[in-house]
Amino acid sequence: MATWTNWAGTATAHPRTQSTPGSAAAVVAAVERARAAGSTVRMVGTGHSFTDVAVTDGELLHPAALVGVVDVDRTAMTVTALAGTPLKVLNAELAHLGLSLHNMGDIAEQTLAGAISTGTHGSGGTWAGLGAQVVGLELVTGTGELVRASSTENADVLDLARVALGALGVLVTVTFAVEPLFLLEAVEAPMSWDEAVGSFDELVAENHHVDLHWFPHTDRLLTKRNNRLDPGEEGLAAAEPLGRLRGWVDDELLANTVFGLAVAAGNRAPAVIPRMNRVTSRALSPRTYSDVAHRVFTSTRRVVFREMEYAVPRSVAHEVLAEVRRVVDASDWRLSFPVEIRVAPADDVPLSTAYGRDSLYLAFHVPRDVDHTAYFAGVEAVLRAYDGRPHWGKLHTRERADLAPAYDRFDDFLALRDRLDPDRVFANAYLRRVLGD
Ligand SMILES: Cc1cc2nc3c(=O)[nH]c(=O)nc-3n(C[C@H](O)[C@H](O)[C@H](O)COP(=O)(O)OP(=O)(O)OC[C@H]3O[C@@H](n4cnc5c(N)ncnc54)[C@H](O)[C@@H]3O)c2cc1C
Repeated sequence: MATWTNWAGTATAHPRTQSTPGSAAAVVAAVERARAAGSTVRMVGTGHSFTDVAVTDGELLHPAALVGVVDVDRTAMTVTALAGTPLKVLNAELAHLGLSLHNMGDIAEQTLAGAISTGTHGSGGTWAGLGAQVVGLELVTGTGELVRASSTENADVLDLARVALGALGVLVTVTFAVEPLFLLEAVEAPMSWDEAVGSFDELVAENHHVDLHWFPHTDRLLTKRNNRLDPGEEGLAAAEPLGRLRGWVDDELLANTVFGLAVAAGNRAPAVIPRMNRVTSRALSPRTYSDVAHRVFTSTRRVVFREMEYAVPRSVAHEVLAEVRRVVDASDWRLSFPVEIRVAPADDVPLSTAYGRDSLYLAFHVPRDVDHTAYFAGVEAVLRAYDGRPHWGKLHTRERADLAPAYDRFDDFLALRDRLDPDRVFANAYLRRVLGD
């Protein structure tokens, strides 16, 4: 039987069977097959989670036949799409309709269901992660029932299923709140640690979206500030995107090809990494451009890596940044990837890493083939000490016993899981670890 592997190569499934359902009825049939066989079933997205959250040894459902927009409501300003739709497909369809999501992460490869299920987020003090933008969904529960959920129908299910790790059901459709398509102006510039971290609160307050990348072994960061443009009479024609050549040189050649070669050189000779980071961070040049939102938010990532990301309360941002920097500086780790620093406003999604508190996100990466354990364990200890919550789709070592106290509504989630999947048709090793049996 063919195996399934995630993007980073950190999780592999050996499913007993695989299928590609194209309707809610086909998903119901898959759940009923699993129940009859006393087995399990899960749908995967595009495998962009680093954890084994998507893995199943039962029936693996592929998302490829659940793609496309099914409803546009311009009065309510909502759009409903099939759950297997890749975010990049939704973005293109929304742009065609003159619409956009409010905010998103930094790639658009994921499926809608996959992205919301692990709490995918972008950055900015005002607009929350993808789960918080969901206003409706349809899912097939572990008893084979198709449940529709919105603010007026099964509102308790909508509340908890917006970030649900695939534990409550197989999503068939997702409805997002949308807004008219808008332009973002991106200003990217290098800064020193003291300048960027010293003015971090102002950076967040004064810009709609802030994304910082610190180059370990140096004092330098790349800062990215994205702000909504008031396009005036010109409308979307006011966009000033990067020229084709500059865009290709920056985003494809430098960010992927040259960075990939530098990472490979660092893998072969880790001792050169600090010097390489100093050269790279010095070579960064400022740039400004504007484009429709999703083209500014997202880019293509070809250099494969492993990642851990934590959310801590914004109120301890300065202490956490200083402590992480101290731990990295004092270590003998050789780190070729920047540490990414983002923020999100408090949201009301019970299993969202930003639930109930304005959050600072810190993300740590190593090249695909490099052992991450010492580095991730070292910084994870700092983040745990500051009440950190791990991204559900990225590597971490937490378990149910120490995750439950981090989420006020953890027990509500477990109770809904008992109701919607009493026989654990959607169980896998990851869910047993983070949610229990
Ligand atoms: C290069 C890269 C960049 C990234 N950037 C960001 C970022 O900017 N911000 C961020 O927060 N995260 C980011 N991530 C993490 C990523 O967004 C999440 O891990 C996301 O879950 C991946 O979506 P996917 O479609 O690949 O789903 P998968 O990883 O395949 O699956 C994720 C979960 O969703 C479940 N699932 C899939 N389909 C369904 C369905 N129909 N019904 C129910 N459950 C389902 C799966 O079973 C699994 O539990 C990034 C990851 C990579 C590799």
